Amino acid sequence: MAAIIDGRAIAAKLRGRVAEEVVSLAAEGIVPGLAVVLVGDDPASQVYVRSKVTQTLEAGMRSFEHRLPASTSQEELLGFVAALNDDDAVDGILVQLPLPQHIDSDLVLDAIDPLKDVDGFHPVNVGRLSTGTGGLIPCTPLGCMILLDTAIDHYRGLKAVVIGKSNIVGKPVAMLLLERECTVTVTHIATRNLPDTVRSADIVVVAAGSPGLVRGDWVKPGAVVIDVGINRVERDGRKVIIGDAVREEMDHAAAVTPVPGGVGPMTIACLLSNTLRAARRRRGLPGAVREAAVA
Ligand code: NAD
Repeated sequence: MAAIIDGRAIAAKLRGRVAEEVVSLAAEGIVPGLAVVLVGDDPASQVYVRSKVTQTLEAGMRSFEHRLPASTSQEELLGFVAALNDDDAVDGILVQLPLPQHIDSDLVLDAIDPLKDVDGFHPVNVGRLSTGTGGLIPCTPLGCMILLDTAIDHYRGLKAVVIGKSNIVGKPVAMLLLERECTVTVTHIATRNLPDTVRSADIVVVAAGSPGLVRGDWVKPGAVVIDVGINRVERDGRKVIIGDAVREEMDHAAAVTPVPGGVGPMTIACLLSNTLRAARRRRGLPGAVREAAVA
């Protein structure tokens, strides 16, 4: 029977570590602050922003929530980001995606100070990730690695297959696995014979947004499966959330993440951890929460 990697519990532990460090920073007169910017009224984004604000406050940090109308121009938003860059109370800046169509998201993400880029999407941080030279790591990939750390002691030489090549999940996860000296194959919608490629993997990370894509007979006995997918589907007349892997078919795996309750809860916990890391780095303080120690 595959072990179920409990993302909720691991995320709660990470949030607890962050909160402890926030208390010790407060003794030095430092309160980390996270600014979240939401443009428009996308319902899913509103839910995400609410959770981020609540969890930031629960961790003892300052939360700056900015809700801007959908009519906000690109120039106004860029000006807003510039002001947050200059605001000393703000350690982390997160611009909630997707942005309205008339705004160039890349331009906005590029305008965030890389030292405050807690989403890790700025080209400087992307570059640092690919060269393995520090920087802020995107939250969901970081969460995937913390979950993997609970199931894997030695990565060196393991074969990892990542399904999905997005900039926010697939590519950064691949970089992190490469950094641990896995042999990494990145696959995507145009990959030929995906099942056979996945069958060779010791680690499968699936971030495709394709419900039930990864079947049991794709997965080698003893492999670890991290399911990033979040798919809202209807089952027996009810709306449910399922992942990209068919979990009921994964008994022969060593460990799998559930959906919901796997990668999902890790993302905000890693956002808090990144904010703390950014707060320390900006002030030249050594260290920050060692996420790996949570596992
Ligand atoms: P995306 O649409 O940007 O990228 C999907 C990738 O998967 C693409 O590279 C595409 O080529 C590949 N793909 C799609 N269908 C495929 C198939 N049938 N076979 C092989 N490859 C296929 O998506 P994303 O933003 O990377 O997100 C992926 C999934 O992860 C979504 O379900 C999303 O909701 C979820 N997600 C979860 C979290 C979290 O916090 N848990 C965070 C981000 C994304």
